[in-house]
Amino acid sequence: MSPSERILRGITISAGAAIGHAVRAFDPLFISLNLRINSGEVETEVARFRESVEKSSGQLRRMQSQLKRRNAAESSFLIDAHLLILQDRLFVDRIIAKIESDRINAEWAIQQVTDDLCEAYDRLDDDYLRERRGDLDDIVRRLLHNLQSKHLPPLARLPYDAVVVGRSIPASALFELRSRHIAGLVTETGSSLSHTAIMARSMEIPTVMGVEDLPEIPSGALLVVDGTEGIVIVSPSEKTLARYREIATEEKKSKRLAAAAAGRPCVTEDGVRISLGTNINFCEEVPAAVAYHSEFIGLYRTEFDFFRNGSKPDETSLMAGYSEVLKNAKSMAVTFRTIDVGSDRKMWDGVNSNMATRGLRFCLENQDLFKSQLRALFRASVKGNARILLPFVSSVDDLDEALEVIGDVKKELTRHKEPYSPEIPLGVMIETPAAAQTCDLMASRVDFFCLGTNDLIQYYLVIDRSDQSAAHLYNPFHPAILRCLCQVNTLLQPVGKPVTVCGEMAADPVSAAVLLGLGFTSLSVSLGAYPRMRQIMPMLNRGKLRELAGEIVKMEKPAEIESVVRKSIGLRSGQHP
Ligand code: PEP
Ligand code: MG
Repeated sequence: MSPSERILRGITISAGAAIGHAVRAFDPLFISLNLRINSGEVETEVARFRESVEKSSGQLRRMQSQLKRRNAAESSFLIDAHLLILQDRLFVDRIIAKIESDRINAEWAIQQVTDDLCEAYDRLDDDYLRERRGDLDDIVRRLLHNLQSKHLPPLARLPYDAVVVGRSIPASALFELRSRHIAGLVTETGSSLSHTAIMARSMEIPTVMGVEDLPEIPSGALLVVDGTEGIVIVSPSEKTLARYREIATEEKKSKRLAAAAAGRPCVTEDGVRISLGTNINFCEEVPAAVAYHSEFIGLYRTEFDFFRNGSKPDETSLMAGYSEVLKNAKSMAVTFRTIDVGSDRKMWDGVNSNMATRGLRFCLENQDLFKSQLRALFRASVKGNARILLPFVSSVDDLDEALEVIGDVKKELTRHKEPYSPEIPLGVMIETPAAAQTCDLMASRVDFFCLGTNDLIQYYLVIDRSDQSAAHLYNPFHPAILRCLCQVNTLLQPVGKPVTVCGEMAADPVSAAVLLGLGFTSLSVSLGAYPRMRQIMPMLNRGKLRELAGEIVKMEKPAEIESVVRKSIGLRSGQHP
């Protein structure tokens, strides 16, 4: 008799369904002895350490050139992060100094320096920076393997349907696994900001992290990984398997259909033209947006690249990066959102921000930094089709101040005879209740708007969007949200300024149907959601959804609203298109 099915819960990291057999990842324990050495051995020990650094750098550079050859969007930034650690004198030189001064072997010196750094990481308040500790663990693992001249674990024998299960999986190991097409990934630790998570999403591997009952999964167990719902089903029943086989087939079909539809205009069943763009977080994702024939990049969250190296980027390297993005995007419009710094955001150690200094407010308080990003954007603008978007705008005063800064930057560039496109369209994110109520007052000052439903919902419903325990309260179908969206549309229609919805609400078929019904015809979604949304648009009837919107705005309860919309687009409860 087959064991009965068990459901383990975790956090949604990378959407999609996978069926496969568990392969437990256990980085083989090699005994790393801490030894004292005598003064005559110091030189050899330092040389042994340097050799390991060289070997590790070589391995990483080979990985990177493979990535470049494949023009892969998948995170060569990760390799950059690891190479930077190996080039960091604070890391390498401190280890050498320890070997020399304490007369200890390289393994022990690595351990001591890493322990100090890990302690510093653990004290950080910022989730993103804390997650960078994973990069350090990962590189230390590589250094120790190379010191012992051991090969990294062999991967060739993985079964074709392997679901890799481990307490944590280093991001570089995931990269090394890429050619084996692993089916899924399940870990006990990790968050959606970790490099492993970012890598899993860009490799489109269904992934669930934060699974506390992970020890219950033995190697070889049959598993379903539902990355969309954040669950892992151990020993699934025949019925469950059949359901997930259907889901997996549908997912494959939507990717195929999206590829086939690429290049054709996106229209609804009743012929209404929908503009469908993509959201990106890293410059390496541009080629994937081009490959999908995305109409435009509706949101480039520049803070991820800005804070990537842990120190203030200089204007020249920013400009080079933005020029590259525009060049790779060909003629596609790229919406560069200026850095959105906030309590849940990426930044450097020592840069503090809370809600009162989030997004544009932070930039207005730190104008040198804001100006250097703007100058880089304007200077790069001659390379392609750029648009600038201001995040977290909450008053006309803030907007006017930002416009003044932008004006100053342009004057400065003109004075220095720097070429730039003077007519770059400028937009405002509507993601605070204040902006939702007053976007019409801002309209004459800007060229376009982006509706950020992720933040709008958190501030309207007073729920921290990153709080997993409150996820059930975060509801885009709440009447308050529908009314707010209706109002934004009513306020903006007479002023004739375009608005694109770029929050996650646009990336879910049911809530996207609501958006179409409420009058929005421009959506921008993550790369992972793009194929599915591209496939779904021609199945929706805009006319019928407009009529439906008239009914749902009068309804009282989110669950009822969602169910009515689901039914109208032909989906049963809990069913994913
Ligand atoms: C939003 O708030 O909806 C949005 C798109 O911005 P972010 O998710 O980066 O806050
Ligand atoms: Mg936002």
